[in-house]
Amino acid sequence: MDLNKRVRALNEYVTQSGVTLMIAEIEDFLHNGAVSSGSAPQSGKPRALICFSRLQWQDNPRLRHLLSRCAEDMDVIVFEEVEYSDARNASLHCKGTAAGVLIAAPILPARLGGREAEECQRRLLDQLVAERDIANPILWYDTPMSLAFSDHLKGAAIVYDCAGDLPETSDAPSALLVRERQLLSRADVVLTSEGGYETRRQQHGNVHRVAGGVDAEQWGHAWLRVKGLIDGAILARTAPSAPPAPSTRSRVREQSVRRGFDYLIVGAGFAGSVLAERLASQAGKRVLLIDRRSHAGGNAHDCHNDAGILVHPYGPHIFHTNSRQVFDYLSQFTAWRPYEHRVLATVDGKLVPIPINLTTINRLYGLSLTSDEMAAFLAERAEKPDEVRTSEDVVIGTVGRELYEKFFRGYTRKQWGIDPSQLDKAVTARIPTRTNRDDRYFGDQFQAMPLLGYSRMFDRMLDHPNIKVLLNADFQEVRDEIAYDELIYTGPIDEYFDYRFGELPYRSLRFQHVTLNQERFQPCAVINYPAESVPYTRITEYKHLTGQAHASTSISYEYPCSGGDPYYPVPRLENAALYRRYQALAEKEGNVTFVGRLATYRYYNMDQVVAQALAAFDRLVGAKRTRLSAPMAMGSDERRVRS
Ligand code: FAD
Ligand code: UDP
Repeated sequence: MDLNKRVRALNEYVTQSGVTLMIAEIEDFLHNGAVSSGSAPQSGKPRALICFSRLQWQDNPRLRHLLSRCAEDMDVIVFEEVEYSDARNASLHCKGTAAGVLIAAPILPARLGGREAEECQRRLLDQLVAERDIANPILWYDTPMSLAFSDHLKGAAIVYDCAGDLPETSDAPSALLVRERQLLSRADVVLTSEGGYETRRQQHGNVHRVAGGVDAEQWGHAWLRVKGLIDGAILARTAPSAPPAPSTRSRVREQSVRRGFDYLIVGAGFAGSVLAERLASQAGKRVLLIDRRSHAGGNAHDCHNDAGILVHPYGPHIFHTNSRQVFDYLSQFTAWRPYEHRVLATVDGKLVPIPINLTTINRLYGLSLTSDEMAAFLAERAEKPDEVRTSEDVVIGTVGRELYEKFFRGYTRKQWGIDPSQLDKAVTARIPTRTNRDDRYFGDQFQAMPLLGYSRMFDRMLDHPNIKVLLNADFQEVRDEIAYDELIYTGPIDEYFDYRFGELPYRSLRFQHVTLNQERFQPCAVINYPAESVPYTRITEYKHLTGQAHASTSISYEYPCSGGDPYYPVPRLENAALYRRYQALAEKEGNVTFVGRLATYRYYNMDQVVAQALAAFDRLVGAKRTRLSAPMAMGSDERRVRS
């Protein structure tokens, strides 16, 4: 098999099996076309959840809502309470739900009872686990009685969900009370209703009220909350100093009170994660990394959608850099898939390459110019302004007004909500103009995608005993609960200072993600729509980026908007001036380092943020008193390249 086929096969293997591969195993796969037997990983994120339910699926709406959502992320098996029949042998009846949950209903001969029945269920359960090759699942108990036949299973985390209407413990049969005590001593997380909360809190250190929902959105929130609690429990278990049961937050609080963290890092995107990794692994610091989202990775986060296609929920992220240092640094945590980004634009009813190059001009105008002729063609049209200040000046000064209007004006007005004449030159200067046929979007020396995706790369980066990660936690919420020596802040700088001088403008995006029942949608990863009459700016088809083989395909439309998550700092003179006022405050802030795209209000690519974080690390461990990260030199794509 050639390398391309192996990479495709590897992607398929990983998607279908859901395993986490170590670098050596990836190399093994690429070399031999398969992972050697015995090298299949045992650890990594759980890929399955087994729920022990005391009711049948159709009678348990709460589980139906929560676990159907869980099935979007992993295999979910619901092992129902036993039913007795006049059959001679025990059997397990399995059926799948529309949401992809597997319902396993044990049917036992009526003559069996007590221990025999428990042993029978244990055997059926073990068979199911072996057949489905389930390792290290999350165990979810809707009833403590199921411990009788499942207490031998090792789980990544144990959830006791007693939010349903269990009998009051004082009236409960003693077998139930015994099993419940056992379960409480094993569980990592206890979910309860409002009514049972106070009682349960006396019994366990990590109890949470999880309200149900009346509509899909509320159930969606409920599940996200539960998912965050489980993730926290799993991470807490892997932390070396962690005691076995109490909640992540109380454990974090305990540790912070006992010894304190050396660093609290706000934001688990590239800036925060790189600093956490460096401080923990190179300086032996104890780090607490928090994020208000339910995942690490910041805007670079990726995940498999319902159809099993790897997508970027916050828009396409393509890695490119000219910095060997940055590339080598990240290569410690991921293997790479060679990928050079190419983009087409729809202009005058034609699909032409952008950045503008020889092919673009020839195709658009039906010409067959040479490179020299194209240079002359552009020189005739370019209108050199006295001073190149704005995004309009840059483009008109290079390609002239007509091409500016076809490719840049509409796109930029949609993307930024203002005219290019009001926007700093750095914005459109990101896009080069070439007189040769090089149609790559970036000219950088290193261009590649993390082989198994960004999230796997972040998992590896943060997998260190000195790093604790707390998700779904806003800085405001935890700042007074945590003891730490130094703070690294990667969120919006104006928010940190409570908008004292007013809000810094950010541009946001609304993504419409669509999965289509066809193998391919468009000829390349991204197609730009510069016309103002089209409400979106670009469509991305993710399989081009990831190389994933799949019968369906997922695309996203990007609609720029002013509200919503702060995605883009807006490069304009007055915004830079407002930022400088915040920057002056930041410089006076003792023991706080501001790093990243939002905290330094810079339109940075991923590699620039990594470089900025590495530089901040050097300063922190070297000259400890320098607090504000200096801007790094512009990446090559921010310079205008001509050839
Ligand atoms: P972020 O990724 O924004 O991370 C900051 C984190 O801090 C977030 O997770 C946020 O939830 C958290 N946070 C903020 N405030 C708080 C708080 N108060 N409490 C707790 N947590 C908080 N770069 C490229 O190199 N190539 C690309 O192709 C590319 N495409 C992009 C496409 C889009 C649509 C966007 C928006 C950006 C793109 N980028 C790309 C840029 C890239 O996303 C950023 O450079 C990089 O992710 C910035 O990392 P960061 O850590 O500074 O910030
Ligand atoms: N741009 C444009 N037309 C295009 C591509 C880009 O006008 O076809 C302008 C637009 O202002 C955009 C900027 O160039 O915001 C930078 O483009 P890039 O693709 O780097 O944006 P990002 O990927 O950061 O959204």
